[in-house]
Amino acid sequence: MRRVVVAVDGPSGSGKSTVAHQLADRLSVPHVDTGAYYRALTWAVLRHGVNTADAAACAELAQRVAITRASGRTYVNGEDVEDAIRGREATAAVSVVSAHPAVRRLLVARQRAAVGQTGAVVEGRDAGTVVVPEADLKVWLTASPHLRAARRAAQLGEEDADVIAATADELARRDDADAQQMARAADAAIVDTTGRDVAEVVAELAGRALSAAGASP
Ligand code: C5P
Repeated sequence: MRRVVVAVDGPSGSGKSTVAHQLADRLSVPHVDTGAYYRALTWAVLRHGVNTADAAACAELAQRVAITRASGRTYVNGEDVEDAIRGREATAAVSVVSAHPAVRRLLVARQRAAVGQTGAVVEGRDAGTVVVPEADLKVWLTASPHLRAARRAAQLGEEDADVIAATADELARRDDADAQQMARAADAAIVDTTGRDVAEVVAELAGRALSAAGASP
């Protein structure tokens, strides 16, 4: 079967994790979660007491730590950090660490290496422009601000309306901080997931990816 590469980009809470994960399963290719690499490095930066604003020190640490992913979990030097990297502390610091160009160069190389012979669904902010610009299909997911906040809060186990409102503010701040890193490819299909069934979005994207790659669905 032909190699299929799909880039799924969009802001936090746009539904990209769920869509990318299910799409990868459906296409039988690996799911490369690029945000997990930045989150894992940020976790290591905090663990080692490195200043998040120190680009050289963050890049030096990025060269020393092994970041691996298996069965949807993330490991730093073999330690399972999946839960910690999704928490508030790492989330609050990740935009600063991920903005360092030297960090991006190192982690993009590792993200590319994670794209297998069969292809991959690469999820992130710059997958379609930087990580896999050769992708057969590029998708930019969006959702309403309220839905994005509700999804992010749910990931943290929160359903309270006040928490969702506070999460919306936090997301808006992170969007601003991530503006440099967010790059929508000119040829990306914009898909709004608000009010849409995930299975339906995944089925549609799988069909588009396979026909773009010249494989039969
Ligand atoms: O996608 P996720 O919310 O897990 O990404 C966490 C953070 O990692 C983003 O807020 C952003 O700072 C950074 N990131 C990035 N480039 C990517 C993916 C994520 O800078 N391709």
